[in-house]
Amino acid sequence: MQKTAIFPGSFDPFTIGHESIVRRGLSLFDKIIISVGYNSSKKGYFPLEKRLEWIGNVFENEPAVEVTWFSGLTVDFCRKMNAGFILRGLRTAADFEFERAIAQVNKAMDNKIESVFLLTIPEHTPVNSTIVRDIIRHGGDASRFVPRGVNIGDYKL
Ligand code: ADP
Repeated sequence: MQKTAIFPGSFDPFTIGHESIVRRGLSLFDKIIISVGYNSSKKGYFPLEKRLEWIGNVFENEPAVEVTWFSGLTVDFCRKMNAGFILRGLRTAADFEFERAIAQVNKAMDNKIESVFLLTIPEHTPVNSTIVRDIIRHGGDASRFVPRGVNIGDYKL
């Protein structure tokens, strides 16, 4: 049976840490659906369309990766997409505690969906979307923290 994973997140914006988790995940799954969680009351920094476009650029030559968005519960979205796995990345012990709670609740809601975690490579431990947004807010160059195709430098808020 085809193994499909959802990689859910805000991706505001998508970073080299996210990219690495997806590329490594491709050795485990036949298909990875990068799914930007959308919450109308918490719109985020970059518009949803830009986040989707940029992630699409990064994986334009990777047929095993799909990019889409969803709202609502991740487990409901997994069922809709016929995905048996939720892929997440772990950087720190704080990530672990946060992810543990979410994964256990997801498991309680749907016992058939498994969460799978990949530990970040050491160089990516400090990389996160909040830092990238802070650099941009203060006029700095954050390009080294985002993959080619995530054109934050061209984007004017
Ligand atoms: P969320 O808003 O759900 O936390 P994020 O966009 O921040 O979503 O992250 C999505 C997933 O990617 C999470 O599992 C997060 O732990 C993981 N992640 C974020 N940054 C990194 C990184 N530098 N290395 C590895 N995993 C990461």
